[in-house]
Amino acid sequence: MISERQATAQALRMEGLGNFPLREEAQRELIAAIQRAARDVDHASAITSRWIECNRFAPTPAEIYVLAARCDREYDPREWRCSKCDGTGFVEVYELHTWRSANDKTVEQISHEQFERLLQQVSGIIGEQIVTSAAAHCNACARGRRMAEESRQNEAENAQEKPAARRSTGLNRVQPADFKQAAGKDAE
Ligand SMILES: [Zn+2]
Repeated sequence: MISERQATAQALRMEGLGNFPLREEAQRELIAAIQRAARDVDHASAITSRWIECNRFAPTPAEIYVLAARCDREYDPREWRCSKCDGTGFVEVYELHTWRSANDKTVEQISHEQFERLLQQVSGIIGEQIVTSAAAHCNACARGRRMAEESRQNEAENAQEKPAARRSTGLNRVQPADFKQAAGKDAE
């Protein structure tokens, strides 16, 4: 939480906007909202700057809270590290692929331990059974979720251009190019 003086300085940056509260009580509400919503001075400054960039009118306290969540450090990978993906937005996932026939394959998500164990047990032949590791978007942080959303949108755009060749497993998988090539070659 920042000091009242710091919050006041941010509020006053918005003084030139329309409907800026003239009454002292209303001003104090705005200052208190900034004070409570902001994690620190940088966050408060980011909230204010973002508001000024996008609006001609002064915010209500409620709008400050909404914007504070959106300007959260979580969105800045330089400031924030997700414990699951270390801020990269990617995690490694492990899968067991089992073919019942040339065009009928099941994909199961497995743990890293299962991956290590199955590596010794499956034939490792595409068309039979393989274990594989692949990069997936992290679902534990905003960065990973945003990247997943972007790739879903790209996929949707691509799908309009050409019919989908494969069914999605529901996992936001990123196919390593070399693995895709190897699989393609084998299928021919
Ligand atoms: Zn993450």
